[in-house]
Amino acid sequence: GLPVVAIVGKPNVGKSTLFNRMVSERLAIVEDKPGATRDRLYSKAQWLNHNFYVVDTGGMVFEDEDTLAGEVTKQAQIAVDECDVIVYVVDGRMGVTDEDQYIASVLRKVKKPIVLAVNKIEDYKRQQSDIYEFYSLGFGALTPISAANGLGIGELFDEIVNNF
Ligand code: GDP
Ligand code: MG
Repeated sequence: GLPVVAIVGKPNVGKSTLFNRMVSERLAIVEDKPGATRDRLYSKAQWLNHNFYVVDTGGMVFEDEDTLAGEVTKQAQIAVDECDVIVYVVDGRMGVTDEDQYIASVLRKVKKPIVLAVNKIEDYKRQQSDIYEFYSLGFGALTPISAANGLGIGELFDEIVNNF
């Protein structure tokens, strides 16, 4: 089948905004459990000659300081388990948080290609220091984007399809 790209990160970093920008049309909400409040949302995407699926998730949510827990997180973990490439979205305006670091350590254990997207970067010059902070997450490369206005989305797509 087509490659699957999962969008993960903590809540409110812009995952759904990015998903909506990446996809052509929504396909289906996948529910593993009736009544689940936030499920995985799949859609088809295309970049150059590559066709693939993108999965939006409700995010990875913390129960306490160092425990990822709950139904929303479970959905994100299922998406991570079944995907080919992970897009890890962080909030470039907020800077690196303990949650970002913990999620990074969880994702590294999956041993799949991870593309780090530093979102909410509408102004490279003004935001530059925020961008470099995210190298500390240890992924080697990062792509500054604005899911809201489309800046950097082409570069992000390039990074993704390079990992197929
Ligand atoms: P999610 O919880 O990770 O899915 O995040 P959402 O996509 O729902 O976005 C959370 C908030 O961040 C919303 O208020 C968005 O409008 C805002 N947001 C998303 N992308 C951007 C961006 O590129 N720039 C800015 N400034 N805000 C954004
Ligand atoms: Mg969302």
